[in-house]
Amino acid sequence: NVSIVLFTADLRLHDHPPLRAALDGSREVVPLFVRDRSVDGAGFAAPNRLAFLADCLADLDAGLRERGGRLVVRSGDVVEEVCRVAVEADADEVHLAADVSRFARSREARLRRALEARGRRLLVHDTVTTVVPPGELTPAASDHFAVFTPYFRHWSRWKPRGTFGAPRAVRVPDRIASEPLPSRDRLSGLSPALPAGGEREGRGRLTAWLRSGVQDYADRHDDLSGDATSRLSPHLHFGTLSPVELVHRARRAGGPGAEAFVRQLAWRDFHRQVLAARPDAAGSDYRTRHDRWRSGRSARDDIEAWRAGRTGYPVVDAAMRQLAHEGWMHNRGRLLTASFLTKTLYVDWRVGARHFLELLVDGDLANNQLNWQWTAGTGTDTRPNRVLNPVTQGKRYDPDGAYVRRWVPELRGLAGAAVHEPWKLRGLDRAAVDYPDPVVELSEGLDRFRRARGRD
Ligand code: FAD
Repeated sequence: NVSIVLFTADLRLHDHPPLRAALDGSREVVPLFVRDRSVDGAGFAAPNRLAFLADCLADLDAGLRERGGRLVVRSGDVVEEVCRVAVEADADEVHLAADVSRFARSREARLRRALEARGRRLLVHDTVTTVVPPGELTPAASDHFAVFTPYFRHWSRWKPRGTFGAPRAVRVPDRIASEPLPSRDRLSGLSPALPAGGEREGRGRLTAWLRSGVQDYADRHDDLSGDATSRLSPHLHFGTLSPVELVHRARRAGGPGAEAFVRQLAWRDFHRQVLAARPDAAGSDYRTRHDRWRSGRSARDDIEAWRAGRTGYPVVDAAMRQLAHEGWMHNRGRLLTASFLTKTLYVDWRVGARHFLELLVDGDLANNQLNWQWTAGTGTDTRPNRVLNPVTQGKRYDPDGAYVRRWVPELRGLAGAAVHEPWKLRGLDRAAVDYPDPVVELSEGLDRFRRARGRD
């Protein structure tokens, strides 16, 4: 008999429950990836992520070939393509990883119906894209946790399943045709310093991180210029690394750094269980706050300045330029640029979330939308009205200004923390610096925000 493994956000061979189940139960397996046209149509196929995806598919194919197999790639409607391949291969089972977005869940439901109508089965596996399955941990009176701290208490007591390695051999039926693998070279509009994708790359990065990096994570994760976080987020987004394996290996490494790192992985599961229970939270306020976000001409100019990294607040601009250049931004940068857009400029979080999704190589519906909501105070933050001050934040997390000088070359002539307040320069010194004045005074932004939220 033959089974299909439909790869989606789980582009790896190690610790892959659907692949393992398929190999255990079948003589031959079709490892299938469908480039789904509706993903392109929904605007979710940003060039930076397509480039990373191309690396992941090439590496998955190479890994399968080393084991005697290959990756089958198709494009079209995912349900129609899977059914077509099932008929061509005479496969009776399709294995799929569970996922949380409305799109993923409707794909699963449509696929199940279509396969069952043809006398075939869909088998859905959890703990592929999360450590704890969404919906597994719940408080007494709800279907999900709305606050992280109690969720994390339960999450920490959960015993993750054991992990396993990559299969030794994969036999793929000969007769199944594949399209060529997508290639990075055909893409335009890429950020110039994008990271490389693929399972091999991800595993190398993970090993290096656990050897020398994670130990200092508790102390240094907020240090903007130190760049001392794992940068594993795109690998978690595309599933080139297994989150269950990450937790086991980090716990084995031990120490306060590893503990703090594992806590961040719990945040990932936390947002996924929120989105699983409230799929609308991808686009609507999780908690209704009746915000009347700014719109019109002046908001449009401010949004443009924010996108371009020309707000006149150096640490905000540095982070926005890092995003454009690398397709990635430090978490502290994400927090303060999102707070600046939503609370200082009082612009709708959806505007910012959309811009991030256009560029982030780790752009992820659950993590992006729910972190935006958290920062905007429409989501799960228990202190929804706190406002991050970009000057204080800059001085605290980039104390000698190295991060700002790296990304805002106009300010390279300013020494130390002075770089965070270029408006304090006088006369000729100010005139020599080609950098904009702040788009808004912080006190004015704060007043506007307090008045707006006061209506709540
Ligand atoms: P590390 O600090 O090394 O953390 C390890 C892993 O833990 C990350 O790779 C990530 O998977 C997870 N993690 C860390 N912080 C968070 C968090 N706050 N929420 C959920 N998971 C977390 N993360 C994304 O993966 N995709 C996004 O689209 C995304 N958008 C964001 C938007 C905003 C406004 C904010 C404030 C945060 C966003 N994050 C997003 C969360 C976080 O900023 C990134 O996961 C992190 O910066 C990635 O870098 P890293 O891998 O070096 O993280």
